[in-house]
Amino acid sequence: MIPGRFEYHAATDVDDAVRLLAEHGADGKLLAGGHSLLPMMKLRFAEPAHIIDINGIADLRGIREQGKALVIGPMTTESAIIDSELLQRRCPVLPEAAQLIADPQVRNRGTIGGDALHGDPGNDHPAVLMALDAEFVIRGRKGERSESVDGFYVGPYLTALDDGELVTAIRIPTPAEGHGYAYCKFKRKTGDYATAATCCLLEMEGDTCRRVRLTLTNVGPTPLRATDAEALLTGSEPTAERIEQAAQAAMSICNPAEDLRGSPEYKTHMAGEMTRRAIHKALDRARRG
Ligand SMILES: Cc1cc2nc3c(=O)[nH]c(=O)nc-3n(C[C@H](O)[C@H](O)[C@H](O)COP(=O)(O)OP(=O)(O)OC[C@H]3O[C@@H](n4cnc5c(N)ncnc54)[C@H](O)[C@@H]3O)c2cc1C
Repeated sequence: MIPGRFEYHAATDVDDAVRLLAEHGADGKLLAGGHSLLPMMKLRFAEPAHIIDINGIADLRGIREQGKALVIGPMTTESAIIDSELLQRRCPVLPEAAQLIADPQVRNRGTIGGDALHGDPGNDHPAVLMALDAEFVIRGRKGERSESVDGFYVGPYLTALDDGELVTAIRIPTPAEGHGYAYCKFKRKTGDYATAATCCLLEMEGDTCRRVRLTLTNVGPTPLRATDAEALLTGSEPTAERIEQAAQAAMSICNPAEDLRGSPEYKTHMAGEMTRRAIHKALDRARRG
């Protein structure tokens, strides 16, 4: 339970963090809230020789509206997301999901960036950000680039981020006024990771679903986007039969590992149930405006 030896660096600004990352390459690791990195270091699953602390960089925190997008600093804590009046109004699925993460101690320190960039398929933000069509703004030695969240996750703890890069912002196209949303998470107890969870975002035009996003947490090596399920609902009336077909389509892409949370069959079953609930809840909210 004692981590290996490492050298600690406190980055003063984004340029300094990029410089430190470039200097230490694969031996350097960014420290955000520390709630995933430190446990991994204590278990010696990660043994970075250099820790680059980005907690002192004010530019990496905060939530703002910029044109038709919401821009969130990666160092924004879960608690700040839950308390954000702007997100509650414009993008309520993010506070809803953040409220289901861990416990108050973790939420006060853990950040949306750390959660989304760790690559843990059990983390909740990746699926939610994928449903929101979000993108990561990334800085490295070669300058700035953007990467869509959809396609960013390559495997467990493997992302499209290169050594020497840090995420400086999460950009989300502002969801349409009156959209329906839900993040339904099944967990064994308060504070646990998801056995299975589904994020549903939808826009209605009368009785027809104009646009749907369905994404799943912890039922595969990465967060999953249920595109066949989305297609079944898009452009049609979401009858009970179609919702059931969508839930079945979502279950068909699940490939969870067996662990203490249950067998692959059980987790897949729960993913179907979370999908039904998320669609119904999102529809209900969209219909109420
Ligand atoms: C008891 C417990 C229960 C938990 N339950 C849940 C849960 O139910 N759902 C859930 O989603 N999470 C859960 N977590 C994880 C928690 O949300 C973590 O806080 C989160 O995964 C990591 O965020 P962090 O800010 O602590 O990041 P850190 O642990 O500091 O960093 C995580 C990783 O992200 C990298 N990183 C951080 N910021 C950047 C950046 N800007 N650019 C590039 N890379 C970056 C770091 O280098 C590191 O590799 C739980 C944690 C604990 C301890």
